[in-house]
Amino acid sequence: MKTYLVTGGAGFIGSNFVLYMLGKYDDVKIINLDKLTYAGNLENLTEVENHPNYRFVQADICDKEAVEKLFAENEIDYVVNFAAESHVDRSISNPEIFVQTNVLGTVNLLSAAKNAWQVGDDTYREGCKFLQVSTDEVYGSLGETGFFTETTPLDPHSPYSSSKTSADLFVKAYADTYKFPVNITRCSNNYGPYQFPEKLIPLMINNTLQHKDLPIYGDGMQIRDWLYVEDHCKAIDMVIRDGKLGEVYNVGGHNERPNVVIVKTIIEYIKENVDSAVGEHMMKHVEDRKGHDRRYGIDPEKIKNDLGWYPETTFEVGIKKTIQWYLSHKEWMENVTSGAYQAYYEKMYAGK
Ligand code: NAD
Repeated sequence: MKTYLVTGGAGFIGSNFVLYMLGKYDDVKIINLDKLTYAGNLENLTEVENHPNYRFVQADICDKEAVEKLFAENEIDYVVNFAAESHVDRSISNPEIFVQTNVLGTVNLLSAAKNAWQVGDDTYREGCKFLQVSTDEVYGSLGETGFFTETTPLDPHSPYSSSKTSADLFVKAYADTYKFPVNITRCSNNYGPYQFPEKLIPLMINNTLQHKDLPIYGDGMQIRDWLYVEDHCKAIDMVIRDGKLGEVYNVGGHNERPNVVIVKTIIEYIKENVDSAVGEHMMKHVEDRKGHDRRYGIDPEKIKNDLGWYPETTFEVGIKKTIQWYLSHKEWMENVTSGAYQAYYEKMYAGK
């Protein structure tokens, strides 16, 4: 039995990872540590809340005492650090909390894990590992050609990606300085069930279904490399089990599409299958995001060659599954889009 400390396990990817691991293995125990910010939602985890191998702890990754207590009371084998402030727009209006959680929180986790796992000078309990879940945004923006490899220089632009880059550098520093056992995964844009509707795909699905304007930043030609969330979970599982210590692995499915094409795909599916009144007339171009990166594209050859990972879900299949999931989870959407979300939504998009 291996014990995983999953941080941010009530968020989009974290909750998918918890469900994936408990669905796949009988011999894993998961402690989910999450602060439950606006993005954390225990409704994502109702199907495992009484699972004998699952436990939820509400805490902040920056809280030294709470994190150290968890290590003292449990023999934790792996840390999988998803916990983060994750939305670029929010980082532009409030960078400080991104430094707090993404940088200081990660260092706090590293320090607690190091103290708990250390058995001698630069040696640690056999088999332990700290996995930092990072993003392709640390590499900056690409031109029309080329891909990010693990050796592409780090060149973040937004406060979000700068905070994730700083965290990656601290993880690297722990490996270089203390020989601490780590891996970093850098994944492209995820989509799938349980994604908070401030992110492109669930925002557009929700707005289309509700006959609201579909806000398109600038010309909508920003290119992102989309990966179905379960394929990301599979990659993380493989890196924890077989990733070579100290290595970075890029994760992406060569699935690049401009944002406006994603929006048109969603409209088309809903028009054909759900509501013939929706259409491209609902798209409304709004002022572009400040410093908006034009193109991200991942080269996933290393994780494919070294660990045998490959994406199982094509975009065509994944986007249909995702839209259908939101259609069959209307109550989930209603719950997350009430209250605080409304105020945020009005501030970000109303009047633009
Ligand atoms: P999310 O915003 O949906 O979830 C973040 C979770 O972290 C929430 O449950 C939140 O409550 C929790 N959290 C925030 N601050 C915390 C704190 N101080 N202490 C404890 N918990 C805290 O994010 P996501 O989209 O699921 O992303 C998860 C991770 O994956 C992030 O580190 C992100 O940088 C990375 N990532 C995301 C994508 C993507 O497309 N969404 C792509 C690549 C990498």
